[in-house]
Amino acid sequence: MNRIAQIFETLDYGPAPESPDPALAWLDSHGRKFGHFIDGKWTKPGETFSSDNPATGESLAQVTNGTPEEVDKAVKAARAAFKSWSALSGYERGRYLYAIARAIQKHARLFAVLESLDNGKPIRESRDLDIPLVARHFYHHAGWAQHVAREFPGHVPYGVCGQIIPWNFPLLMLAWKIAPALAAGNTVILKPAEFTSLTALLFAEICERIGLPKGVVNIVTGMGETGQAIVAHEGIDKIAFTGSTEVGKAIRAATAGTGKGLSLELGGKSPYLVFEDADIDSAIEGLVDAIWFNQGQVCCAGSRLLIQESIEERFIAKLKKRMATLRVGDPLDKAIDIGALVAPVQVERIRDLMKRGVKEGALVYEPDGDPLPERGCFLRPALVTNVSPANTLVEEEIFGPVLVAMSFRTPEEAVALANNTRYGLAATIWSENINLALDIAPRIKAGVVWINGTNNFDAAVGFGGYKESGFGREGGREGMAVYLKPSWEKTLAAASSSAAPAKAGAQKSNPLDSDVLDQTAKMYIGGKQARPDSGYSRGVFAPDGKLIGEVGEGNRKDIRNAVEAARAALGWGTTAAHTRAQVLYFLAENLDYRRDEFARRIKAQTGKDGEAEVAASIERLFAFAAWADKYDGAVHNPPLRAVAAAMVEPIGVMAIVAPEEQPLLGSVALLAPALAMGNPIVLVPSQAAPLSITDLYQVLETSDVPSGVVNIVTGDAVTLAKTLAEHDGVDAMWFFGSPEASAMVEKASAGNVKQTWTSRSRAIDLFDKEKFEGDYWLAKATQIKNVWIPYGA
Ligand code: NDP
Repeated sequence: MNRIAQIFETLDYGPAPESPDPALAWLDSHGRKFGHFIDGKWTKPGETFSSDNPATGESLAQVTNGTPEEVDKAVKAARAAFKSWSALSGYERGRYLYAIARAIQKHARLFAVLESLDNGKPIRESRDLDIPLVARHFYHHAGWAQHVAREFPGHVPYGVCGQIIPWNFPLLMLAWKIAPALAAGNTVILKPAEFTSLTALLFAEICERIGLPKGVVNIVTGMGETGQAIVAHEGIDKIAFTGSTEVGKAIRAATAGTGKGLSLELGGKSPYLVFEDADIDSAIEGLVDAIWFNQGQVCCAGSRLLIQESIEERFIAKLKKRMATLRVGDPLDKAIDIGALVAPVQVERIRDLMKRGVKEGALVYEPDGDPLPERGCFLRPALVTNVSPANTLVEEEIFGPVLVAMSFRTPEEAVALANNTRYGLAATIWSENINLALDIAPRIKAGVVWINGTNNFDAAVGFGGYKESGFGREGGREGMAVYLKPSWEKTLAAASSSAAPAKAGAQKSNPLDSDVLDQTAKMYIGGKQARPDSGYSRGVFAPDGKLIGEVGEGNRKDIRNAVEAARAALGWGTTAAHTRAQVLYFLAENLDYRRDEFARRIKAQTGKDGEAEVAASIERLFAFAAWADKYDGAVHNPPLRAVAAAMVEPIGVMAIVAPEEQPLLGSVALLAPALAMGNPIVLVPSQAAPLSITDLYQVLETSDVPSGVVNIVTGDAVTLAKTLAEHDGVDAMWFFGSPEASAMVEKASAGNVKQTWTSRSRAIDLFDKEKFEGDYWLAKATQIKNVWIPYGA
């Protein structure tokens, strides 16, 4: 071997340590013991717990375990600060956010070192990714503060926001939460994860030093119970949570019926698809980033590798070779690829999951490599093969450096496998064929799709999940929207009960009394009239108590059939927007032909002249037909050689339980936006006055609405709502009803993290065009997928 070849063979890494001293000196300056940061001041440390360095097991500092009383104090401080903070001009608020961004940049190294010490992530990542993105987030949102009033007219901040974050990107998650909240004019109480409170405390000191008004940002440290106290506090207007799906569901249930705003960024099991025409070397480098970045403790980690069968063997062989070069060790060494996991309990959890997977038949490959450090939370990178889709390691979020590989034969199979998960956070596609990649991207149910790249993030591009990965977005315009609400919504009164028709669908005591009529209006499921499974019907009465008709008494089987029919009609979402618009225009025109008949029917059920309601319903259908091809996305230009296409997609199957009053408009005003955006629907019309909608199916049939796109189930609204809210085949639900029933719907929706909207008896006047003919419902009928597409050579 010649000398040069020999040097390359024997070349090794020298140590490249980053000094922990400045970070330790900062901890020393606080006596290594912290209270909370409330109302611009540091509280005295209370009962504390240790924040440890996971690479050594040594304690870094003592952090206070926040009590409900301390949470209350923080909420009061945030409430007191809200009035003046929200009254500042956008420009003035923006100046504070710029000041925070600059201070973070100025102290970037200190933040990076402290983050790596506390969390165990390689300094290379905290220095080059986490902290720069934190600064970018505050800069970007300083700009939003300035323009929020212009860009979101008629909107106001929620008020006091409770924010709870996990330990995997401690400061970055803080930035994703605090920057948009403050830009919108909210004040916040943030609880960092118990393992990683330190950079949040350093951030508090930054807020103090730049002179942020007191009470605008409050940092309360603590454990899960402190989070629970924040969630339960009555003085909080909105909860924003990032963490596990399990805790997210608990928070959904705990906030049910409270009227608190909620956004959830939850777990994932994201697919990483490699097609046979991919640039394999690039795909392997991408994969290293997808699954071994931050030790795999990334919610959007590409943890499920799906490779096309024709290249599987070659790809796996190359991957193993690459894995053998990954260096595991001291997070403060600049030449380390994989640092420490956050805590011993996580290491144990991952080992347990691996044992279960192996028992179920999985094969695990771990490269030999250098010996792992003797102490600390270290694991080697692992590749798992020989698994079926039901293997624990394929289904569960591992949250560690473990990649699970499976193969597929065709693009159809790839999409089916990719979507075969309860999560929907992210996906990666590798293919040199742009047609193929752009065909697959919209078919994957995930909030972010990266093409020929992975783990790209930017403050201008929304991030968040589909399905059980949560709802709401962080970053960009969508991220701002979750911290704002229409000003009218904040002051809505409860509805007066006189609005409801006189005899709300009361059941006759003797069922035979109803046989004065010879016809029961059928339900409408899968494009066909359907008799109720129960075999029972219920009377519909005029205000004077006279029986004027009968409808089916729907039950859970009818709902099941309707949801099944709606799922079979999901193709409505990929029908061209122009076509959907035409169908809605046609529907409006056909309703117009029967204007008088529908008006008479309304009068018969409510005693009120129905003409205005029919006219408003026709106009509403026109309005949303007009929206169908106009409420669309954006193309973002992040600071990378990529564009991010923000695509507006339907949510999926929507359940709509219409209000009692306004038998026609009450349903049409909700159907129209949901249909325009491509969602198939299960509709429960007004319980008291359902005949306007059972008449409507004849209009639907003559208007080219495809079978299954609108399904109508009549009956007891609250009973049917419960079944719909519990149904995993329903993706979103709008419910009109009492506060108690609204709480029930929200609680039951936690099962599959449905997106819900409930009326809680508030006085919602659907006649109001100003409020309800625009994006209010459109935004609630859609979710945004960001597809990152690289460009340039
Ligand atoms: P957890 O859900 O356990 O914790 C997240 C935060 O919630 C922590 O601050 C935690 O406090 C707090 N918490 C725990 N229980 C409750 C409760 N009942 N009520 C209110 N707050 C509570 O998740 P981890 O911290 O263990 O993080 C890992 C998980 O987070 C992974 O499953 C991952 O997928 C997900 N995640 C999702 C992200 C996304 O953007 N979608 C980003 C990052 C992580 P404490 O620390 O004391 O337990």
